[in-house]
Amino acid sequence: MTDASFAPDTAPLEVLPRDISAYRQGNTGIDYVHRFESGRPGPHVLVNALTHGNEICGMVAATHLLDTGVRPKIGTLTVSFAHVEAYNAFDIERPYENRQLVHNLNRIWSKAMLDGSEHSPELKRARELRPVLDAADFVLDIHSTRAPVQPFWVYPEFERNAGLALAVGNPLVHLVMPVGGAPGTGVTGYGRHGEPDVPDVQGGAVVVECGQHFSQAAADLATDVTLRFLAHLGLTDPVAAAPEKAPARRFRLLEVHMVKTEGFAFARPVLGFETFQKGELIAVDAGQEIRSPCDDCTIFMPTRAPLVGREGVYLTVPV
Ligand SMILES: [Zn+2]
Repeated sequence: MTDASFAPDTAPLEVLPRDISAYRQGNTGIDYVHRFESGRPGPHVLVNALTHGNEICGMVAATHLLDTGVRPKIGTLTVSFAHVEAYNAFDIERPYENRQLVHNLNRIWSKAMLDGSEHSPELKRARELRPVLDAADFVLDIHSTRAPVQPFWVYPEFERNAGLALAVGNPLVHLVMPVGGAPGTGVTGYGRHGEPDVPDVQGGAVVVECGQHFSQAAADLATDVTLRFLAHLGLTDPVAAAPEKAPARRFRLLEVHMVKTEGFAFARPVLGFETFQKGELIAVDAGQEIRSPCDDCTIFMPTRAPLVGREGVYLTVPV
């Protein structure tokens, strides 16, 4: 079903997936997972790409690390390509279809799902990757967005995560997720990464949304953020970062509205970062109105092609 409020995706395909089968054989016993140990004390840092199959900027950053031979001076560096099966399902005629195959790999990291009896390509891969997440002190999970919006961090609302993202720097927008506020359990909410009582020095897990999936700018930012992340944690030499021209802006998630019917439609065309005043109509879903719960409500990741059961829109408030 098409709706006039959903403009067609017109973002140019500047960066396309490439064959990554050469990276299948890692050294961890898990396909597409590579680990480098410095032999010196220090944090174990995981750079995770392709949690979503068509978010290829992470692939660009991960292959950059592997191709240029980046090695940790301290601690351990692990580089993983998470959902290669979905990545390999890319079809240039339908470049937005291979985000996931069955489950959203970024929603199934609860003990109940991982230990449960359901099966899917994503659950199989999450179960394989579990020890990789268990071993990591710090996690950078690299994503991109369907709409061409400014990049932002997303993380569970713990001070350690806020401090980590602030210290790494650009992007300068933070989307803070109160514990239990987002649907499912993401990579950054798995195990101890989702626990409140981890001292700052021992860990942190953040998502970086680098921009539009197929933009060169997203690929460039993913690589840049990854290098700054590793440098901040002391694994690599400091990198020269561009001076930041503005303070970081933080938004706290208020509500996520899931798409309930095919009739889901926004009140006006949106891409993300639009603001609504208290009571203003944001969207309708089969006759039910989604109205702004507060002034300056800012929306993130509005769906561009509503699929029943998936996220429709994230409502946030600036903090
Ligand atoms: Zn994603």
